[in-house]
Amino acid sequence: MSNKNTKMSLSKATNVAEEINNIDTTEKKTNDRISAKKKNVPNSKILNLIKEQQQARRDAELKADEEAKENQRLQEESERKQQEEFVLLEKKREKKREAKKKRIQRQKQEGLYLTKEQREKHHRAQIQFESIGIHVPPRTNAQQSDIQKRILYNDFQKTNLSSITTPSTEDEDSWDENSDEENICNEDSVQTKDILRAPVICVLGHVDAGKTTILDNLRRTHVQDNEAGGITQQMGATNVPLDTIVERTKMSRKLISRQGDFMIPGLLIIDTPGHAIFQNLRSRGSSLCDLAILVVDIMNGLQAQTIESIRLLIDRQTPFIIALNKIDLLYGWKSNKEKDVESVLEEQDSFTQNHFEKRYDEIIVQFAKQGLNVALYYKNPNPNEYYSMVPTSARSGDGMGSLIAMIIETSQTNLAKHISYTNELQATVMEVKAIHGLGTTIDVALINGCLSVGDKIIVGGQEGPIVTQIRRLLIPESNQELRDTNQYENKDKVMGTCVVKIAARDLEKSLAGLPLFIARNHDEIDYFKNEIELILTTVLNSFKLKDNGVYIQASTLGSLEAFLELLKIQKIPCSGVNIGPVHRKDVLRASTQLENDIKWATILAFDVKIEKDAQDYAKTMGVKIFQNDEIYNLCSMFVAYQNQLIKENQDKYRHLAVFPCKLKILPQNIFNSRDPIICGVRIEDGFIKIGTPICVLSKDMCIDLGRIASIEMNHKSLDIARKGSEVCIKIVSTTNETAKMYGRHFDKDDILMSKISRESIDIVKAYFRDEMQESDWRLIIELKKIFNIV
Ligand code: GDP
Repeated sequence: MSNKNTKMSLSKATNVAEEINNIDTTEKKTNDRISAKKKNVPNSKILNLIKEQQQARRDAELKADEEAKENQRLQEESERKQQEEFVLLEKKREKKREAKKKRIQRQKQEGLYLTKEQREKHHRAQIQFESIGIHVPPRTNAQQSDIQKRILYNDFQKTNLSSITTPSTEDEDSWDENSDEENICNEDSVQTKDILRAPVICVLGHVDAGKTTILDNLRRTHVQDNEAGGITQQMGATNVPLDTIVERTKMSRKLISRQGDFMIPGLLIIDTPGHAIFQNLRSRGSSLCDLAILVVDIMNGLQAQTIESIRLLIDRQTPFIIALNKIDLLYGWKSNKEKDVESVLEEQDSFTQNHFEKRYDEIIVQFAKQGLNVALYYKNPNPNEYYSMVPTSARSGDGMGSLIAMIIETSQTNLAKHISYTNELQATVMEVKAIHGLGTTIDVALINGCLSVGDKIIVGGQEGPIVTQIRRLLIPESNQELRDTNQYENKDKVMGTCVVKIAARDLEKSLAGLPLFIARNHDEIDYFKNEIELILTTVLNSFKLKDNGVYIQASTLGSLEAFLELLKIQKIPCSGVNIGPVHRKDVLRASTQLENDIKWATILAFDVKIEKDAQDYAKTMGVKIFQNDEIYNLCSMFVAYQNQLIKENQDKYRHLAVFPCKLKILPQNIFNSRDPIICGVRIEDGFIKIGTPICVLSKDMCIDLGRIASIEMNHKSLDIARKGSEVCIKIVSTTNETAKMYGRHFDKDDILMSKISRESIDIVKAYFRDEMQESDWRLIIELKKIFNIV
């Protein structure tokens, strides 16, 4: 607006100037004429004309002056307005900047601040976290664990040190308030439901339910089965290509969404069955298992490990399909693996169908008891509420096509978002293996993204993160059983989803179960090293440890978890864990148990080396180390050691152990009334042993009678006699005092009791627990009161 005014006044001024110019020209011409005429006769008309012209000139000059002044005023006005607008805008910006600064300040204080680049990196790391099923609590203030704080501190340090992560003012300005939303949008643009990757499938259930047979069938790797066509047996997992799936599901095509349209490129089936493996996969890569098959033996229904598996799956939020296996065992079953199992069931005789219905109804109730709704896959009213069950026979192959079709159907519908392909790297180290000619290699499950020869990778190691460069990428040659032949195909680049063997330097101490990252620069190396450390510490801290217990050392996360699982079953508590060789510091940590009980000052070293200095230190400290490559052996070794310690202690302390008893004198059976006292007694409570010190409370006085020297029942000697028995005992005096006499110091109405003390109670508690019954402990409490023992 002000610009427009200025323009107008400028053009006016130009007009005035032209006008003056014109006047000047006319005046000049008139003057010329006058001077020409002056030469002749001066004329009044001419004089008037000159006056008029001069007046007009003055007027025009005045006008021009005024207009120039107006122009000036307008211009100043416009500049002032511009200035005001600018100040206002500046103020707004300043305010915005202030708000942003405060927000960043707050986030930094809370340890929540991440630059755009860090957020992207973090997001990548987050995917890796999730890929191994570790829930790292969100980076919120109060709840952060010490480790997280440490990591965040490192992030924060980097924020201050690194040029790319330090937000400059420019950065801040360019960093829009909505950048978070933008990031999400960008991520979405990478991940699309249109491109699905192969889902990773696991099989679990009770022992003998048929897991291995189902796996064999799915992979078609059974020795008697020559239909291995096209299937590649990979490291720890088998890739079932689309062709095979199409072929195997031809009878169940109507199941697959968008009829006949296969959207997934294949299946990646984890080779090993069992929930322990699945558990390892949790920390080895939960999302590694996208979909589980829960195998239930139709004849046995839900069993202990089925229920355990259900809990595990629910816990890990892993979707699953139930294979109701061994239907061929139903009464009168007629097999047909070429048809959909729904039709096969319909074609069965009525008694077979009745048998099926009966088993099925029972299993539904069993699932309901576990809080789950289940339904036959072709009757499932709502797959979001009901778990689908597919009747199968892994042995005859009935229903296996329907099971695969169900896997595809679920993957392409409910799981579509979860398994949509993204180029963000998601890879987990599954196994570490030394291969002749290649050195130590790692088998990596590559779920998303790609790996290339030359990539700088970061993996977890026994002694901290390992940074190395991919030298070779190997996949098994088609149709070769990798484990037997060691035939590999070299690749320059591989894309998810598959299992690939990586050969590189320095992998000797790498750990299975942790994610693999790729770094493009130094900052990323540091960042991912931190992430690996954080994951490892989080996993180690997630184990429920006890104050008193053994110390466990294992070579891999998976074996550590399996070991802890076994210890739990064996009821052996564990107070500390670590991965890798046993070092001095591990011995030091285990030695803290010496204060509690020598038996807990023990290290069980599974499949790991014991460093020389650790061995020496353990000897000095009195820490026992057991080393073996078999966890069951290690458990047995510890149990044997425990028993040996107990026995040694029992031998050492037996003379001090006093077991509780209350005895009623049988007056008709007094055979000798003084040293030794020989009399019949009925054991009212507790038990007696040879050596038990006996006393009597008479008139509030505690009179020591001596120790039991022998026990007899029906002329037979006994070492021990329990509550309810009537026995003859011999009590010999053990003090120099005058021996006490029946009839003088005590009589038939007095109750004989074992003379317990604080020390004797502690010894019984520590070393003779297994000889005590619950009622014996109650008697100890009663006697404690009688003898005023605190
Ligand atoms: P896992 O312990 O769960 O892996 O069970 P396996 O796959 O080793 O099977 C245990 C036993 O059940 C083996 O003898 C199998 O041959 C048998 N089995 C597995 N599936 C079936 C089936 O569908 N029908 C019958 N009749 N037997 C089966």
